Amino acid sequence: MTNFDSHEQLNPAEFQKGLPTDTLILREGPQSDDTPLDVVFVGAGPAGLAGAIELARLIKQDNMEGGGIGQIEIGVLEKAGELGGHSLSGAVINPKCFFDLFPDLELGDMPFRAPVTGESFHFLTENRSVRIPLPPTMDNRGNYVASICEVVRWMGEKAEQLGISIFPGFPADGLLVQDQKVVGVRTTPSGLGSDGMPVEGSHVPPMDITAKVTVLAEGTRGPLTQAFLDWQNITSPNPQIYALGVKELWEVKTPIKRVVHTMGWPLPRDAFGGSFIYPMDDNIIALGLVVGLDYKNATFDVHEALQRMKMHPIIEPHLRKGELLEWGAKTIPEGGYYSIPDRLHGEGVCLVGDAVGFVDVPSLKGIHYAMYSGILAARSIFQGLKAGDVSREGLASYTKAIQSSFIMKDLKETRNVRLAFKNGFWSGGLKAGLMSLTKGRLLGEKISVVEDAAEQKWLADDEGVEKDLSGPKVTKVDAVYRSGNQTRDDIPSHLLLGDDIDAGVSRFYEAMCPAGVYEWDGQGLRVNAPNCVDCKATDILGPRWQVREGGSGPSYRRM
Ligand SMILES: Cc1cc2nc3c(=O)[nH]c(=O)nc-3n(C[C@H](O)[C@H](O)[C@H](O)COP(=O)(O)OP(=O)(O)OC[C@H]3O[C@@H](n4cnc5c(N)ncnc54)[C@H](O)[C@@H]3O)c2cc1C
Ligand code: SF4
Repeated sequence: MTNFDSHEQLNPAEFQKGLPTDTLILREGPQSDDTPLDVVFVGAGPAGLAGAIELARLIKQDNMEGGGIGQIEIGVLEKAGELGGHSLSGAVINPKCFFDLFPDLELGDMPFRAPVTGESFHFLTENRSVRIPLPPTMDNRGNYVASICEVVRWMGEKAEQLGISIFPGFPADGLLVQDQKVVGVRTTPSGLGSDGMPVEGSHVPPMDITAKVTVLAEGTRGPLTQAFLDWQNITSPNPQIYALGVKELWEVKTPIKRVVHTMGWPLPRDAFGGSFIYPMDDNIIALGLVVGLDYKNATFDVHEALQRMKMHPIIEPHLRKGELLEWGAKTIPEGGYYSIPDRLHGEGVCLVGDAVGFVDVPSLKGIHYAMYSGILAARSIFQGLKAGDVSREGLASYTKAIQSSFIMKDLKETRNVRLAFKNGFWSGGLKAGLMSLTKGRLLGEKISVVEDAAEQKWLADDEGVEKDLSGPKVTKVDAVYRSGNQTRDDIPSHLLLGDDIDAGVSRFYEAMCPAGVYEWDGQGLRVNAPNCVDCKATDILGPRWQVREGGSGPSYRRM
């Protein structure tokens, strides 16, 4: 048991339940009244939608050229009630994959808000800001500011125009398998009461969707992807590690005209991360703080740190008299090159996007990598369908294509930049600088890491510290309201708690969760599960996150 002493050590992994692989991998196969498709994508983010669109384009072209592939039914399942509702990003987008995917469209047709016209990078102390040279990886010339919600909704329309069926509000709950083969997914039931029992009149039982190929495009920390990798014993040189990003959208009276990144305050020296401020429009800015989940102080709170950051003299004047429009949070896979699984396919299955960690942290880019992985998966699936072979061998061309793609080339160049910060801020910064300048040629040997939950944290006795909520700050309760949360109050809890959760661990969870789901009430841990915005930090450091009724969670519009 953890006591309440100052600076006591806390090992998050000790209090975390194992991955429930047996309930995620459904070996009994599909029910008899299944819904058959040819290819099902799980997740309508940039990865899943780009993959579905590329596949539909290839099929259309083949049929026009008399190639004979015939009618292929493609479906995309999404857990949000509307497309984009669970999408959250910065976002400054590298547009290259949009031109690959939509060769007939002009720049003006793309769903971007504005080109990046200026950029600056700052080191912050509590009251000061020092402008520092832009690291080469952060050069955003040629990139565009966008809202990922808008991008996803736009891609969804393009997908539907190509005949793809999109199913918002249909989360996949488990992978249907037969022997070593993935044969589809089972969706979550809906209309269950808080006791887990069906409520008459609103209950919809789970549905089995079978497919020749299932593409896992669940985004960050997807349970189906984790279960598949576990079931197939697929490893990576390092485990995946993550950061949590908390983001706000503000309508402001004093706009910011350039892309701004900061490091330093309000983060403690033993935490890795930084902030971003992106101009979305003449009067709207996106503002966020991203922090590695290997931070050391167990009661460090990313949401609260963002609130303090908003009071900095370079930020607060812009927010004064402004209005908070939206709030949200999401994790980001940060492990990079060494955390990519050795195999990205299996019999009847491909894994794409953030689900397998295609994010380059030094440039804070994942969208075009996610899209390109979807495109490469689509090309392999198309070849497999044409050849009548979507077996493990038939889809092996996907993993090979990724290995020789610009995705892995870029991730290789920056392979140790994030990992170097594990050894401390200043030495990490120096090493990271050298690696960036030499494109990974210097100090390139793998830095080994452990998963975030296995990193020791220390627990300070700071109970009772009053949180100042002056100025543009928002409480977690208000923040969840601004996420547009759609969850029923009487939904069963989707969070699997470990055993022996005492006061110290409760305080750690309370600080970790940006949405105020966990509350230490002085007697025990209260779990306000309907507040959850699916950021997945809990699954990385604390209670396991499970997929819940479709349409639950946030309803982001412009994040
Ligand atoms: C704070 C923050 C800032 C970022 N900034 C940038 C940036 O500026 N530029 C950039 O390029 N990248 C940025 N990224 C990274 C980028 O957003 C991701 O790399 C990208 O969105 C990954 O796309 P994806 O399709 O793989 O996953 P996602 O965009 O996460 O999409 C996955 C989709 O699957 C759905 N889903 C999940 N599980 C299920 C299920 N079981 N059933 C059905 N649906 C499911 C989700 O609801 C979601 O819609 C940022 C990320 C964050 C969090
Ligand atoms: S419960 Fe977990 S997934 Fe949900 S908002 Fe809190 S930390 Fe994020």
